[in-house]
Amino acid sequence: MDGNLRGELVRLPSMERLLQGEAAGDLLRCYGRPEVVDALRESLAALRDEIRAGKQPACDIPEIADRARERLEAAHAARLKPVFNLTGTVLHTNLGRATLPAAVVAAVAAVAGGASNLEFDLGTGKRGDRDAHVEEWLCRLTGAEAATIVNNNAAAVLLLLNTLALRKHVLVSRGELVEIGGSFRMPEIMARAGCVLREVGATNRTHLHDFAQAVGPRTGLIMKVHASNYRIEGFTAEVEEKALAALARERGIPFAVDLGSGSLVDLSRYGLPHEPTVGETLRAGADLVAFSGDKLLGGPQAGLIVGRRDLIARLKRNPLKRALRCDKMTIAALAALLPLHADPERLPERLPALRLLTRSAQDIAALAASLRPTLSGTLDAHAEVSIVPCMSQIGSGALPVELLPSAGLRIAPRERVSARRIAAALRGLPIPVIGRIEGGAVILDLRCLEDPDAFAAQLPRLGAALSGRDA
Ligand SMILES: *Cc1c(COP(=O)(O)O)cnc(C)c1O
Repeated sequence: MDGNLRGELVRLPSMERLLQGEAAGDLLRCYGRPEVVDALRESLAALRDEIRAGKQPACDIPEIADRARERLEAAHAARLKPVFNLTGTVLHTNLGRATLPAAVVAAVAAVAGGASNLEFDLGTGKRGDRDAHVEEWLCRLTGAEAATIVNNNAAAVLLLLNTLALRKHVLVSRGELVEIGGSFRMPEIMARAGCVLREVGATNRTHLHDFAQAVGPRTGLIMKVHASNYRIEGFTAEVEEKALAALARERGIPFAVDLGSGSLVDLSRYGLPHEPTVGETLRAGADLVAFSGDKLLGGPQAGLIVGRRDLIARLKRNPLKRALRCDKMTIAALAALLPLHADPERLPERLPALRLLTRSAQDIAALAASLRPTLSGTLDAHAEVSIVPCMSQIGSGALPVELLPSAGLRIAPRERVSARRIAAALRGLPIPVIGRIEGGAVILDLRCLEDPDAFAAQLPRLGAALSGRDA
């Protein structure tokens, strides 16, 4: 090391002096001593590396404090934060699925910050049941005798398999052995639940006599999985719930349905495609029905199970139920959400998921027209912005084949920029904007844009971000 370089390194201020500086005072008040010391130490180390590499960085105390501030701000910035979902998929699993109504958010906040009667009966002063806050409403809305809840529908399926068919055979149609998002495969869940899967019928066709022949002394459960994220078309046959229910009853075996995206109201009344409701499925004879809280129900992540009182009681006695139980925030959300479903007429105004799904293509196109000039203005040098018709999808496996006519903004890059770079710049905004790339352009489907002012306000940064770096 030459003398000069050693001199530079020695000249770096000591930690003690840095901590006494004015700039560090602000940081200490904001982040506390351990964090600030770490950040200053890392900043000094980075400076030493730069000096060794032959650079001549500024080494005075305010400069070093600035470097530390940048580190601290980056480390303390929110990792999980709101984004604009302009993908065209309304219930997008990677973007948090259903958006909660404001009243539901308020109910969550009310219990989150203090003590609540989560498992406490205010009438008797004794221990209560956390499911009680939602069970009555679930029964009222579905016609079920009893209900219970767990953390998500995958957990609901795990719990019901493990409770009703541990070390027994579960009969499922071969066409229903679905995988959901790569992480939830019915055969794997069955194995983990301790059940033996018995596939019945062929992929495209399964008949009642296939099930009747498969029932044996070790059969613990007949299960139907709602084919929610794909559809087998052509020469197909599936066994109706009613027939399976009758067979199950005759042989004294429970019959459960995994409905996936269970809806409590008939969506066809809003002009959406029909999806079997939880109530219909129970009336068709299912003993238990499991469904998600954050798909068409429009609520928090949860798995809801409704059906026969004796079977629900068995689920609740399973120690797995304790491991899979919902927290107070989920229960507060469900308790505030479920009553909204009692008034289907006002549901689209009150439930964001349904409001977005029923938004008309004309409304969305009008929104696109109002935003195009601003977007076009900021992007003028980099891309051409036009209004395009597009198709949204419901998402989360619900009604996969049915698409909803929508409208969007198409950002077609000019020379020297790529669609990928524009998409990255959109993701880099303070409220990241997530679109999709199609045919070399970025498409922003505006169906789920509910705060156009906040969206438009950050657009000027976009042009700057794209001009900032070379293409
Ligand atoms: C979505 C889905 C699940 C999983 O539900 P989560 O709430 O995401 O855990 C299970 N079964 C079916 C049929 C589904 O559509």
